[in-house]
Amino acid sequence: MTRLERLQAALERPLLVTDSANVRYLSGFRSSNAALLVEPQTVRLCTDSRYTAAARLLPGIEVVDIGRDLYGGLAELLEGEVGFEPDSVTVASFEKLRSGGASLVAFSGLVERLRAVKDEGELEAIRRAAEVTSRAYERLASEPFAGRREVDLAWRMRELFHQLGSEEEAFATIVASGPNGAFPHAEPGERVVQEGDFVLIDAGAVVDGYCADCTRTFACGEPPAELRRAYEVCLAAQEAGVAAVRAGALAREVDAAARDLIEASKFAGRFGHGLGHGVGVEVHEAPSLRAAAGDVRLEAGNVVTIEPGIYLEGLGGVRIEDLLIVTEGGAEVLTSSSKQLTIVG
Ligand code: ZN
Ligand code: ZN
Repeated sequence: MTRLERLQAALERPLLVTDSANVRYLSGFRSSNAALLVEPQTVRLCTDSRYTAAARLLPGIEVVDIGRDLYGGLAELLEGEVGFEPDSVTVASFEKLRSGGASLVAFSGLVERLRAVKDEGELEAIRRAAEVTSRAYERLASEPFAGRREVDLAWRMRELFHQLGSEEEAFATIVASGPNGAFPHAEPGERVVQEGDFVLIDAGAVVDGYCADCTRTFACGEPPAELRRAYEVCLAAQEAGVAAVRAGALAREVDAAARDLIEASKFAGRFGHGLGHGVGVEVHEAPSLRAAAGDVRLEAGNVVTIEPGIYLEGLGGVRIEDLLIVTEGGAEVLTSSSKQLTIVG
């Protein structure tokens, strides 16, 4: 079954797909102005004349030239009861859409649930994206860090991705040095890396439209004992999290396997975010691995990160993140660059 056929099999009423990542996942079509109207027997791609010629190459999909005003055009096209994706429709677009008289029913998460389980082609693209990411980290780790600004290291990572075959960055690379590492989502800035700093780098390559996601934390010269200890605890927690991953495991139990280790250490309370998330055509997708994940269980073919962190205000931070494929018996770890504390110049 194709992705669209799997969606059709799960539908009780027509579904209007407007989330651009979902449109791309289902049809392979990239556009800033497109929607898919999926019905049990038919699939229509609605877009404007800039995209229609390319869209007509898609097999099994009828193309509708709906004009630049996507939602205005859709309002005229839709009739009866139609599901829509509330997370991707603004209030203004919703008002326009319902002015046509169709009965709109909010319907979240269906395509996202399909996306969470990857097929072999998707897994292969993610393996290659992870491979490029790992090679980039290895190359960067062989260079001196001291005296370079965070933005310089971020730019270098981007350059390495390009050289190694990445299409783009999965997200803007995070480089957080010294005290900046205490902010989990720090943006790289003008700070110059100094001897004794921890340097946290979070980055991901993209291959064939699929993302990777990996964090490594390096020591520039000899780190303070407190940071070295935080690294040891974080690595033990990360390895416990990886070891807990298998098809059928509760996402919250995997989170707990890593979190409990940090909570039992002197760094209790210093790991505030979830343990991990799904990765695919977008860098954050289902499933989410966190304490509040309810009864979500991992499935074979999920691709997830395991990324505990310890954040120490005024001193620095450590996060170690791998990308994994969930398998029946455990996991295939895709990110291969060393997780041992690497001392750079
Ligand atoms: Zn990351
Ligand atoms: Zn991540």
